[in-house]
Amino acid sequence: MKNIQEFYPYLTEPKKVVITTHQKPDGDAMGSSLGLYHFLCSLGHSVTVISPTNWANFLDWMPGTNYVIDFDYNREKAKNIIQQAELIFCLDFNILHRTKNMEQPLADAKCIKILIDHHQQPQEEVFDYGNSNTSKSSTCEMVYDFIVESGHADKLNLDMATNLYTGVMTDTGSFRFPSTTASVHRMVAHLKELGLNHTPIHDRIYDNFLENRLRFIGNALLHRMEVLYEYNTALMFIPKTDLQQFDIKTGDTEGLVNYLLTIQGIKFGAIVIDRDEERKWSFRSKGNFDVNTFARIHFEGGGHVNASGGRSSQSLDDTVKQFYQVIKQYEQQLQ
Ligand code: 5GP
Ligand code: MN
Repeated sequence: MKNIQEFYPYLTEPKKVVITTHQKPDGDAMGSSLGLYHFLCSLGHSVTVISPTNWANFLDWMPGTNYVIDFDYNREKAKNIIQQAELIFCLDFNILHRTKNMEQPLADAKCIKILIDHHQQPQEEVFDYGNSNTSKSSTCEMVYDFIVESGHADKLNLDMATNLYTGVMTDTGSFRFPSTTASVHRMVAHLKELGLNHTPIHDRIYDNFLENRLRFIGNALLHRMEVLYEYNTALMFIPKTDLQQFDIKTGDTEGLVNYLLTIQGIKFGAIVIDRDEERKWSFRSKGNFDVNTFARIHFEGGGHVNASGGRSSQSLDDTVKQFYQVIKQYEQQLQ
C-alpha cells in the first residue's frame, strides 16, 4: 500500500468512483463516506456510495443518504457499479470481510483501491494507496485531512462539514475520548467557520429515539446486566426475545455498552446481542485494557484498544459462559 499522497494526482481527472464502508455503518462510516462523496462530486467525479447493509434510521437525515445504495437490496446494480469503477475508496474499515456480502465483489474488482481508516492491523496487500492511522479520532477527521492536504480546502462546504462533524462527534463520544486531539478541535473550528450548525446534529443523533428504546434499555439495565467486581467488568446479554418484545431496530442498541462503563471502578464493559445470523459482541474499556486484542483472541473480532467488536456462532448462553471462562485470565490486567 503506497502513501496516500502519491494518490493525490488522480483527483484532478474525472473518474468513476465507488465509496464503501463497513456493514451496519455508524456515524463515522456514513459521515466519512458522504463527506468524501460531496467532495469528489465537487471535483467532477462520478461517485456512488455503496453501503454493504442498511443503517440506523437516525442517520437518514445526513446530506446525501438518499443517493446511497444498500448492497443487500440492490445486489446486481451494485455489483455492476463496482465492476465498472475506476477507483474504490474503502472507509472506516481495514479488512474486507467487514463489508460482509461485498467482500467478494470488492476482492474481484481490479481497479485502484484506496484505504482511509483508523483501525488496527490493516490488510495492506488489498489496497493500492492508503492512510491507516490508529491515532486519529475518526475516519471523518482523516477525510478532512485528505481534502485539506490534497490542496482542496477551498472545496469544503456545508454538506461536507455536516457529514464530517457527525462522524467525529460520534467516534469521540462527543469530544470526550482521549483521541480528541487539538487537531480535532481545530478541524471543528474550521467547520464552524463554514457555517456548521452543530446543535441539531446532536439532537438528531442522541435525542431521536422512540419510547420503546428507553423501555428496552431500562429492562436491559434491570434484568440483563451482571457486574463482576473482582474483574472490574460489567456484562450485558440481550436475548432475541427482548429485541422482539421492544421492537428494536438497527441502531437502537448503539451506545448501550457505554452504560456499563459509567459504574464506578468498571474498566471493561462487554455486551452480546443475539442477532439472527450470529451473537454480536461489543467491547469497551477504560485505560490500558486492550479490547482489540481481547476480541481478536476470543471472539473473531477486533477494533481499537478501547472499543472493539466480535462475534460468536454459539448460542447466547454458551457465548456468555465462554466469556465467564476467558475473563479469568485477565484478573491481574483488570486491577
Ligand atoms: P461496535 O461495538 O460499535 O460495533 O464496534 C466498536 C469498534 O470495533 C468499531 O470501531 C468497529 O469498527 C470495530 N468492530 C466491531 N466489530 C468488529 C469485528 O467483528 N471485527 C473487527 N475487526 N472490528 C470490529
Ligand atoms: Mn470510525
